[in-house]
Amino acid sequence: MQFIDSHAHLTDPAFDADRDVLITRTLPAANIIKSVEIGCAPDEWQPSLALAEQYPGLIVPVLGVHPEYCVKFTDKHIKTFQQFLKGPRVAAVGEIGLDYTCLQEADKQTQQVVFEQMITFADEAKLPLVLHVRREAEDYSVYDDTFSLLKHSWKKSTSRPYSGVLHCFCARYEEAKKALDMGMLLGINGCFTYKKNEYIRQAVKKAGVDKIILETDCPYLSPQGKRGTRNDPSNIPLIAQFVADYLDVPLEELAEKTTRQTKLLYALR
Ligand SMILES: [Zn+2]
Repeated sequence: MQFIDSHAHLTDPAFDADRDVLITRTLPAANIIKSVEIGCAPDEWQPSLALAEQYPGLIVPVLGVHPEYCVKFTDKHIKTFQQFLKGPRVAAVGEIGLDYTCLQEADKQTQQVVFEQMITFADEAKLPLVLHVRREAEDYSVYDDTFSLLKHSWKKSTSRPYSGVLHCFCARYEEAKKALDMGMLLGINGCFTYKKNEYIRQAVKKAGVDKIILETDCPYLSPQGKRGTRNDPSNIPLIAQFVADYLDVPLEELAEKTTRQTKLLYALR
């Protein structure tokens, strides 16, 4: 069995003490064949690319500007960003989107402007999107704003089997369906395993194993049973087992399909 962590932050200082051992030993031992590294602020782009350079084939970089950090993104970054996207390695633009839990860091207007810019860069480079959408409490309007902005501004390359991923899927089937209708996949992580999140599990069950990929979003969101400890890509099999049990599909099938779908999304070999 082989797995890919489709969304990780291994350049995070939480991994400073053991990053190399983790990548060269722990990951292969857990059957993790690749980890997609998300550099989501201008000061993270270079470290993410450097990590991918250090571990070719194993670490795959994705670059973007997370809504929480969008005030860090200014006109002076545009050229560099476009150049990075043109390089052969960058597999997607992300994580980008809207986050209404951090409106103090950036108001809705500011977030939307940067999100739209990111969509344009992705279109220019013909890359898929890694979406970060986070709601405040039970207010799902952030999804409406995200999908209407996408409908309005996104050209969406049709040459790819999948147009993007709704990372850290944490919503109802209603929202899942809108993402799936746009050709996206759902990124499933530790949130799926938390006791209170039955609504997420039901939405994912309805979407089915053909529409999901696995991720950790490490160092955050450790799966149930490991909460409170640092998360890392070697927890993917644990998440996979949990998802396989709930969806009632064999673990082998889940591994095979999610790995294949991740490869197709990011155009990995
Ligand atoms: Zn993330």
